[in-house]
Amino acid sequence: MSSVIPFVAKTSDADRRVWIEALSQALPDCRIVGFEELTEPERQSAKVAIVADPDPAEIACMPNLQWIHSLWAGVERIVSELPVDGPKIVRLEDPQMARTMAEAVLAWTLYLHRDMPRYRRQQEERIWKEHELPLPSERTIGILGLGALGRIAAVKLLEQDFRVCGWSRSERTMVGVEAFHGAGELGLLLEKSDIVVVLMPLTAETRGLLNTDRLSKMRKGASLINFARGPIVDDDALLAQLDSGHLSHAVLDVFDEEPLAQSSPFWSHPAVTVLPHISGPTNRTTASAIVAANIGNYLKTGQIPACVDRVRGY
Ligand code: NAP
Repeated sequence: MSSVIPFVAKTSDADRRVWIEALSQALPDCRIVGFEELTEPERQSAKVAIVADPDPAEIACMPNLQWIHSLWAGVERIVSELPVDGPKIVRLEDPQMARTMAEAVLAWTLYLHRDMPRYRRQQEERIWKEHELPLPSERTIGILGLGALGRIAAVKLLEQDFRVCGWSRSERTMVGVEAFHGAGELGLLLEKSDIVVVLMPLTAETRGLLNTDRLSKMRKGASLINFARGPIVDDDALLAQLDSGHLSHAVLDVFDEEPLAQSSPFWSHPAVTVLPHISGPTNRTTASAIVAANIGNYLKTGQIPACVDRVRGY
């Protein structure tokens, strides 16, 4: 008899249908069933579920779940909403997502490196004026987070000849990257980076990390790219640094509240580029294949993939 795998997601019916179809194709020996359609015995016997932004009350209705596989890479909401003794949490680690994110990091780094916001403003005022173009090797890009995404982004930037430094919680080494770690070394990266790219998880330690004190340590005229989570950056502190001209531009893909409120000053700020959380989307085909491989292996061997550390928060 085929295993029933619950699919628990706060999405539209149409979205749920396409995900269930993709996951069913990737896991042909299993029956992927939306939470609402599960019978009570199926809820009771479920050992593993696939989730996307799940309602914690629905997870609680499956008391024998050993683990849940998220379709997203960022799991801060599930981590904060599920009890510590609840099912283990496995997040999506998809090499394709890392490549897509690296492409976004390169694209928006080039946007800043090539001074595109300034040339856009010049066009609006019909100004014909050339500015000096530094070589990529004269620009330092600092990546906050040298994990699954940050490392591939670093490789992509090195290929373009940018100088790259990175910051992580534990000590990491990477060829070509000047690596810093721990709270004591964050300032060293901020002081030397022309562009700071945020690619770390939202945890108790990283919430509000880029506050007035840290942003003011960044180089005069430096820029910020936040592709991780909004609350890592203090919005008011960032606006103050942009208004004073200490920072020249911010590319923001993530916000405290999404969608970004119509009243947000970011929308119309001349030194801010607003993106609607598009830097590293989950790809349905590659994500389904990874989830299928992990669940297929678990059903065969009982082995649960590497899980989120609930104390660390990522
Ligand atoms: P990951 O593999 O877990 O890597 C996280 C990195 O951050 C690691 O290098 C880790 O240090 C570092 N870190 C964590 N806490 C730290 C702290 N307190 N101080 C210093 N460094 C710290 O995560 P990932 O897969 O690269 O993803 C990063 C984040 O990107 C996700 O959590 C998610 O929020 C975001 N994301 C956004 C999008 C989007 O579309 N905007 C898409 C996907 C993911 P260690 O190496 O020492 O562990």
